[in-house]
Amino acid sequence: MKKAYNFFAGPCVLPEEAINSTIDALKDFAGTGIPLISISHRSKEWEGVMNECRALWKELLQIPDNYHIVFLGGGASLQFLYVAMNLFENKAGYLETGVWAKKALKEAQGIAKSRGKEGAAFAVASSADKTYSYIPKGYEIPTDLDYFHITTNNTIYGTEIKYDMDCPVTLVADMSSDIMSRPVDVSKYGLIYGGAQKNVGPAGVIFAIIRDDVLGKVSSYIPTMLDYRTHIEKESMFNTPPVFAIYVMTQTLKWLKGIGGVETINKINNQKAAMLYEEIERNKLFVGTANPEDRSIMNVCFVMNPEYKELEAGFLDYAKANGMMGVKGHRSVGGFRASIYNACPIESVQALIKCMQEYEKMNLK
Ligand SMILES: *Cc1c(COP(=O)(O)O)cnc(C)c1O
Repeated sequence: MKKAYNFFAGPCVLPEEAINSTIDALKDFAGTGIPLISISHRSKEWEGVMNECRALWKELLQIPDNYHIVFLGGGASLQFLYVAMNLFENKAGYLETGVWAKKALKEAQGIAKSRGKEGAAFAVASSADKTYSYIPKGYEIPTDLDYFHITTNNTIYGTEIKYDMDCPVTLVADMSSDIMSRPVDVSKYGLIYGGAQKNVGPAGVIFAIIRDDVLGKVSSYIPTMLDYRTHIEKESMFNTPPVFAIYVMTQTLKWLKGIGGVETINKINNQKAAMLYEEIERNKLFVGTANPEDRSIMNVCFVMNPEYKELEAGFLDYAKANGMMGVKGHRSVGGFRASIYNACPIESVQALIKCMQEYEKMNLK
């Protein structure tokens, strides 16, 4: 098979172990003689996977007992709506740190309007003035919000909130692209959610970690399928869960536990990111785009030094010819982005650095 270094932003690199055990299960799931994608989700073998998956989440993130974990379809983008549907009553604040944050806010604005509260969902602070290249600081969170929503990792512009902030109201976080990349103090959040397809699995499933007191405060009707309480009560089996995606997620978490969990992976992630940022700073051809103190350890964004703009397309070709896949920046920003999620091995980062160094040597004499 062709050797590829996978830097795609999502879906993206997953642990080889998780993929191999999924391939086995696709042929024979849990010794049943039935393929994973043909087994009933009501079978006891499948129930075992659901329980194992929840237990891994609980253990890896040290999730306290007053939280529920649900797994649903629809993507993180549908969770933007879920959050507003389930938590918006009077007022909601959002930290606008990028495209995803803005999309989440849009759903809340729609729900606010439909509940007769137009304008009551708004951005508390924004970094749109500098194309989301930093995380706003020094803003005040109104204490009368139903909740304050943050996007911990800005997948497209490469900034990240790498700590668990103190918040005077219920804190809600979209952690799609940095979940399980570091230890998280779950007790600081009312709700954490995200799509699996960045750090914890394939596309097709989302996770939501919900503190039990944040629900039940909304007076409007919440459609059954969009009500978190439905899925909590039925342990994510109200209807058919995305079995394949949940299986791969379980295998991915098993791998993470096996290598030492979130503390270990955080050290490795920091090391990978530091190596790559160091090279971007050293290399005359490239310039980093994110504010250094807010730089993401998951998505490393950079552009060609304007002096050498004409070398941009050539670098992408050169990288691709050397097996680097997915180094192109998001279509909305251009330039380059290397997504170096949990399962991205350090060898991939080293290979990319080598490629950047060679390209510099070839072009600067
Ligand atoms: C990828 C991503 C999303 C969107 O996820 P979908 O599952 O495609 O809807 C939302 N938020 C963040 C931070 C992301 O990285």
